Amino acid sequence: MTAVVTGAAGFLGSHLSDRLLAEGFRVIAIDNFITGTPDNIAHLAGNPDFRFIRHNVSEFIFVPGQVDYVFHFASPASPIDYLEHPIPTLKVGALGTHNSLGLAKDKRAKFLLASTSECYGDPLVHPQNEDYWGNVNPIGPRGVYDEAKRFAEAMTMAYHRYHGMDTKIVRIFNTYGPRMRLRDGRVVPCFISQALSNEPLTVFGDGSQTRSFCYVSDLIDGIFRLATSEHHGPINIGNPVEMTIKEFAERIIEITESNSGIVYKDLPIDDPKVRQPDITRARTKLRWQPKIDFQSGIRETIEYFKGRLAGN
Ligand code: UDP
Repeated sequence: MTAVVTGAAGFLGSHLSDRLLAEGFRVIAIDNFITGTPDNIAHLAGNPDFRFIRHNVSEFIFVPGQVDYVFHFASPASPIDYLEHPIPTLKVGALGTHNSLGLAKDKRAKFLLASTSECYGDPLVHPQNEDYWGNVNPIGPRGVYDEAKRFAEAMTMAYHRYHGMDTKIVRIFNTYGPRMRLRDGRVVPCFISQALSNEPLTVFGDGSQTRSFCYVSDLIDGIFRLATSEHHGPINIGNPVEMTIKEFAERIIEITESNSGIVYKDLPIDDPKVRQPDITRARTKLRWQPKIDFQSGIRETIEYFKGRLAGN
């Protein structure tokens, strides 16, 4: 089996590539390093089953030979990244998805779209299940990501219905673990690096907004199960254990035994007030649920960031 992974030098794309190689796949990895980094795939250099192509998938994608799966994971994905790259974010969700679907169609390959809980926007239904259509502000600063992913889902379903392609959509909730960028702006690397440097943790708003954090190996396992399933509709993958951002900050300070305090900053525009996946569908259709608890996952992640801060 050969899989193309777009965004393979990113946090999730690189972990997915590792899992696919471990399952015996050949992996053709594509990335333009807009937010991904060669460090994430450096350990795969020299692996005969791994090939890297530096390319922007918003341009036509050429891949020679047989392809059995296309995993479309390319996109800036942290709020800071997509605010910094609004147009490439819109393009990769729209044109990049179109090109990736075109590649899968040409190769008669299965297709899996990395979508997002951002499709639910600032949700009015809680927890969020896949039947909820969401509450997204199309013209707000986050709209570039949310609407691109919603368009990507629409395009994927159109290829499924019109071309009869075998497509899958995963709605990924907040995920953390090794290989997140120290300064990608997301709350997990941000708080851990602040705590390890004994700097104050920057809580946005009053910290009462909630998130539910999934460890990366659990997420990748859910995605692998989805890829090899017969399920076509969108499916939430995430950890339903929910906490406020203030509570998250306090736990990071405690676990790292940091001297840091907390400072409060303005809440970004359209920051969702609550988020928790309803994973009933993943439990029943994929027999999947997260296994790694917060304590274990966060300790692994802290160890990784300690290494990065020490310059390794
Ligand atoms: N957040 C925070 N301080 C930070 C970074 C983020 O309080 O330094 C908050 C952010 O406002 C949001 C939550 O943490 O409510 C999660 O933010 P993240 O950027 O990780 O991703 P999101 O879930 O918003 O896509």
